[in-house]
Amino acid sequence: MSGSKFSAALQRISSILHSIRFRLVLWFSAILALVLFAFSAFIYINQRTAFIGESEYRLERKMVALGAGLTVTSKGILVPPGVLQDTDVLIFTNSTGQVLASHGPLPEQDNINLAKRARQEVTRRNSSSNILSWMERTGSSRLNYMFVTVPLQNGPGSSGQVILGSPADPYGLESRLLITLVAGSLVTLIIALLGGYWLADRAMRPVHTITQAARTIGETDLSRRLNMKSRDELGELANTFDGMLGRLQAAFERQRQFVADASHELRTPLTIVNLETSRTLASPHKAEDYRQALAVIQSENNFMTSLVNDLLTLARMDAGQAVLERLPVDLSDVVLETMERLAPLAARNAVHLEAGDLPETRMLGDRQHLIQMVSNLVDNGIKYAAGDGKIISIETGTTGETVWVRVSDNGPGIAAEHLSHLFDRFYRIDQSRTRDEVGSAGPNSPAGSGLGLSIVQWIAQSQGGVVKVESQPGIGTTFEVRFKAA
Ligand code: ADP
Repeated sequence: MSGSKFSAALQRISSILHSIRFRLVLWFSAILALVLFAFSAFIYINQRTAFIGESEYRLERKMVALGAGLTVTSKGILVPPGVLQDTDVLIFTNSTGQVLASHGPLPEQDNINLAKRARQEVTRRNSSSNILSWMERTGSSRLNYMFVTVPLQNGPGSSGQVILGSPADPYGLESRLLITLVAGSLVTLIIALLGGYWLADRAMRPVHTITQAARTIGETDLSRRLNMKSRDELGELANTFDGMLGRLQAAFERQRQFVADASHELRTPLTIVNLETSRTLASPHKAEDYRQALAVIQSENNFMTSLVNDLLTLARMDAGQAVLERLPVDLSDVVLETMERLAPLAARNAVHLEAGDLPETRMLGDRQHLIQMVSNLVDNGIKYAAGDGKIISIETGTTGETVWVRVSDNGPGIAAEHLSHLFDRFYRIDQSRTRDEVGSAGPNSPAGSGLGLSIVQWIAQSQGGVVKVESQPGIGTTFEVRFKAA
């Protein structure tokens, strides 16, 4: 294997070891192994106790049966037929623990050892009258035997022992149970391991898909979607991811559009200033011509200043940098201050500013931003309704839980098809007309950039308000902003 292949293999192993899939299976298997072990141990111990109890009981019954019909002769022990089996062991000892007679398959040495052991059991448990039992592997056969011993009266004052032994588990049930438990647990564990890995792999596959997709998504390509149809948690994650991408795409698109529109808006006044200066510098002119050229340049400069201010305001608002206060404000106060500021501009444009009903109208809000909001509305009225006999009326009021401010004019009005777009950024109904009117409104009049109403809406909404517009072409327009009363 070449070096790069080897390191790739190492990397693959390390990524498997660090994968959630692997850890999940490991944990799951460890817990399962623990449960299986505890369960098997419980069953095994339980069954073994039952085996031992049963085997003890069998031996004691045999001992009782033997007691009736045993005869010890000089040739050995005569056992009543049918009581002992070939594998059973029967030993008689004297009081010193010597074997007097024995019966069974065990060699002589084993019998001697057993006699000693019986003596020890009696001494250890300090009991020479009761039935005692113990289990041991007998020396040569290595078979697990259960023994019982009872005292044997074989002379005045001296007592030996009768020892009866039988294989503890003659049918090998205990070892079979052990093998079944171990093998069963192992097979279960292996199946669980493989099955668990397969399941975890299947469950984690969508994560892999999401990762791959996320890798391919760049700033310029936010149109990709995962479109996962599954209804599980990962499907939900993928849908959330798609939703987030959708919002990001829309935000990027808005940003891109904003920059494009802003550049476009700035290009026109810059071109005008450039043309005007080139034209004026091309040949000598009269003082009046220079004055006119400077007036045009100043007007375009005012437009750009107002545009850049609006752009900055919106950028700050979008970035969440505009901090709005929530203090008690009287909307009528806001209106009066705005009227005072805009009165000269209205007079210059032959528009009459009229204060309608202005009762105390309390709300919680940001005074400066509210002034900007009302200013934008009144300013629009002045711009678009300019001319003798035009009136802008402003009133405030409280209806139930809401307070409102209304700015109405008897200007040209707005056609119904424009109303739904009015608050879109850079939306202007008639670009050329707006610019012309701005020109006629004089150099101090702010030119229309299509951002004024976006700012109005942002200020209203950020303080829990709603903006409504009603307009009839040829009759006039009314803007109304509603807030929650303080
Ligand atoms: P602008 O900065 O161009 O005034 P706005 O967002 O304030 O931008 O207004 C968007 C458009 O809505 C304007 O271009 C204008 O055509 C129209 N508009 C706004 N207010 C009035 C009004 N009071 N009367 C008629 N048209 C209006």
